[in-house]
Amino acid sequence: MSKYKQEIEEVIRKKQKLLEELELSKNTQEVIDDNLAVEDGERKRKIPKIKDDNTKQQELGNDEILDSQLVKDAYNTQNEHDEEQNEEIQEKKNDIRKECPFIITIKRHLLDFDFEKLCSISLANLNVYACLICGKYYQGRGRNTHAYLHSLETNHHMYINLHNAKVYCLPDNYEVIDQSLNDIKYNLAPVYSDQQLANLDTMDTKSRALNGIYYQPGFVGLNNIKMNDYVNVIIQALCRIPVLRNQIIRFNNTVNQDVFDLKTLISKRFSNLVKKIWNPRNFKGQVSPHELLQAIVLKSKKKFTINEQSDPIKLLSWLLNNIQSELSNTNYKNLIDECFKGEVEIHTYTPLQNQIGYSSVPEIENKPFIYLTLNIPPPPLHKDDHKKINIPEQPLFNLLKKFDGITTHDNPKYRKTYRIKKLPKYLILHMERFTFNKYYLEKNPTIVRFPLNNLDLKGYIDEGKSLRYNLLVNICHEGTAKAGTYKIHVRNKANNTWFEIQDLYITQVLPQRISVSEAYIQIYERIDD
Ligand SMILES: [Zn+2]
Ligand SMILES: [Zn+2]
Repeated sequence: MSKYKQEIEEVIRKKQKLLEELELSKNTQEVIDDNLAVEDGERKRKIPKIKDDNTKQQELGNDEILDSQLVKDAYNTQNEHDEEQNEEIQEKKNDIRKECPFIITIKRHLLDFDFEKLCSISLANLNVYACLICGKYYQGRGRNTHAYLHSLETNHHMYINLHNAKVYCLPDNYEVIDQSLNDIKYNLAPVYSDQQLANLDTMDTKSRALNGIYYQPGFVGLNNIKMNDYVNVIIQALCRIPVLRNQIIRFNNTVNQDVFDLKTLISKRFSNLVKKIWNPRNFKGQVSPHELLQAIVLKSKKKFTINEQSDPIKLLSWLLNNIQSELSNTNYKNLIDECFKGEVEIHTYTPLQNQIGYSSVPEIENKPFIYLTLNIPPPPLHKDDHKKINIPEQPLFNLLKKFDGITTHDNPKYRKTYRIKKLPKYLILHMERFTFNKYYLEKNPTIVRFPLNNLDLKGYIDEGKSLRYNLLVNICHEGTAKAGTYKIHVRNKANNTWFEIQDLYITQVLPQRISVSEAYIQIYERIDD
């Protein structure tokens, strides 16, 4: 107890000194501000971006840390709940102040709210605060908590509660209400009005990140922590489906974040991520998908991980299924079927007894689909060494013949034909490029030629009228089957231009470049009703 008293006296002494300095500096505010600017500039130069990223990668790539975090998440101890309740009671006694001399000590460029909300010391996930001076996460704010002790040790006094966005001054422990903190609260948890949501796709305005670089909300880079390029392209792709995106945003469109709940984990974290991707006031101009990745690793029981590249079509399918089942227990409409579900009629002919030919009467079956898999014919085997190696090409319409109801698919057990019965608003095409040979995964490098606009599918369906689609999203694969990477082309509907996004890197790209990529997954939007 006496030790605590000493600490407090020390803090009071330090704070008085600082307040005196601040009081003195009021007359020379301009000079101080200039100094701060120089200091910030120096800091940026001293810590190059690349080094920063590497450190993060090492930290996050550590399996043991990841595991212990996940365990913590899944099994909150009763103690932590008790502690939370104590704090609630304590809070009622605490005062709220409009003025706090430490607001000017906040360092926005060091704030990053994309990481899992865990105390950097105890790894606890309740009552976690971010220090607004150094950006680190600490638990608690009551006496002897990690945040409280951090404030004593470092003279960092401003903290934001990561679960409700309230800002406190520690160790004094009063809440600070000030308009100037709103941008910080917004970066922690953006909240959108219906009007804003309705305008997201037509907004063609650039925003400026704290580092001075301009970005377009909705078209920002995502960190690749280790091997999660296959996740990033799927996140980027789903952000382009307005009705689905807005539904996901509405699902957690609030500042107050619930305690960890496995039942809605994927949807909530996906919601937070999508909100940050479209944030017009993003401090960093980029987002880390870290929290969603953690949720995917946990809920897929490590079927999908950060350390190993997986097939993005499998992830897409898994993700949509999970969101669908999570939302099925809520009031939210099932938009996944509404967006992507179509139907194929399959005719199956069985071989005749004499082994020559197939029965003439098929078994007929209607099957729903979320995406259509197209088979790319194998490239020619022989190469002429004297000539330039030609990359084989196939028009998309050739691959779509699989679904014309005439083309047959034979194997010793059956003959099948496929015909599309119903096409969705958003058509997902999956071009099967990867095949397992006896010993290794092989990639078919054939270029599939496709139109960016007015892909008409009326020939594949009985309706007879025009069914035109425009390309929204093109996920492609570059490199070998084993060591390649995924990137994505996305249409900016506001001005009909295209972006190429590879993890953090975003460039404008000409439409001609897109149609010669090694397309793997595409999403088309229907333009005819
Ligand atoms: Zn204060
Ligand atoms: Zn700090």
